[in-house]
Amino acid sequence: MGVRHLVVGAVSWAVVCGSAAPSGAQEAEAWRVHFAAGEEARVAEQHERYAAEMASAAEALPEGQLNRPFVQYHAARAAALLGREREAVRWLTMAWEEDIEALMISFAPFDPAFETIKESRDFVALMGRAGRMSLGTRHLGGRVHLITGAGSNVVAHIGPDGVLLVDTGYGPALPALRTAVAGLSDQPITALVVTHPHEDHMGGAAELGGEAVVYGHPGTTAAMKEPYAFMEGVELPPKAPTAHPDIAIERDTTIVVGGEAVRVVPTLAHTTGDLSVYFTESNVAHLGDTYLAGNPMMFPGQSDPEGFLDRLDAFLDEMNEGTVVVGGHEDVADVAAVRAQIDVSRACITFVKDALADGRNLEETARAGADRFPPQWIAFFYGVYTQRGG
Ligand SMILES: [Zn+2]
Repeated sequence: MGVRHLVVGAVSWAVVCGSAAPSGAQEAEAWRVHFAAGEEARVAEQHERYAAEMASAAEALPEGQLNRPFVQYHAARAAALLGREREAVRWLTMAWEEDIEALMISFAPFDPAFETIKESRDFVALMGRAGRMSLGTRHLGGRVHLITGAGSNVVAHIGPDGVLLVDTGYGPALPALRTAVAGLSDQPITALVVTHPHEDHMGGAAELGGEAVVYGHPGTTAAMKEPYAFMEGVELPPKAPTAHPDIAIERDTTIVVGGEAVRVVPTLAHTTGDLSVYFTESNVAHLGDTYLAGNPMMFPGQSDPEGFLDRLDAFLDEMNEGTVVVGGHEDVADVAAVRAQIDVSRACITFVKDALADGRNLEETARAGADRFPPQWIAFFYGVYTQRGG
């Protein structure tokens, strides 16, 4: 699931690095050549060549390879740009059925490339399959349940007169999410907290925003008003105004939901709009994508990792041993697991800063730290502190 997240959150990274090529270098090489040519054609707006190269790249990729759905998506959008509806739907259907990153097809309804086929019966029917998925539910504590399978972890707080959701998953999965919620309560969804402005977490916000109060960080509102960069060169339009938070959470806040105090706290790290949520009586926290086991809890662009770690640490002080911690994508954890990750992050930062002070380059630093830290952590912090001048 960690990898799954990297795929979602840093699409171009996954495609460029292609770190998980399980079978032969030769196959990996073949798809890469086609993919590069396809990218060139996309930029040059040569749709025919874009379609042909992406189709070849998709066919050359071994089954199960993590980059397959990305390349299939490209093949689909190239076909759609040419008005080839059946071919476009076929690629998307393949991505859906192979289920490596099935919900990636959720971007298509917003992607201008699919404009000409958006209303077509087969396209609409395929999106409907996402809405009929069966999502998993699990009671975590008190009034709080976890709902899985919509593209990210959704938490539902079942109050006496309404349901509060933390995140929504992808847009086309919203009917499935509604079905899952209806299985937990006959109350309406009255509130939504958006942990951060990524499609896999807020895909249903525009629709739910029409009926529920939306809580979000001002950074999320700002991001919703901008085009969404899904992949290199693939921009989706800004979110509909109904998605925009009605209540801005700019500093540590306590809201009372169904009689329970709920802490909503900015923990900017992964994006410019991260919020973490703690249901104080149910004793469940949702940290969004600021907690991803095995990842340094943030992505390039974050300039103050230490500030973030301090803020998260202080938030954990409000919790206890029994608190169930939900991250954006993985199985639930506890406070000790998050603290352990904070410790490793801090140790890695110290290690990288010392290396920079000694004038070591990235390669030397990665080699020297290889037995203690994953190379991508070292590379990540090295980048941050090089940009900041050490
Ligand atoms: Zn995510």
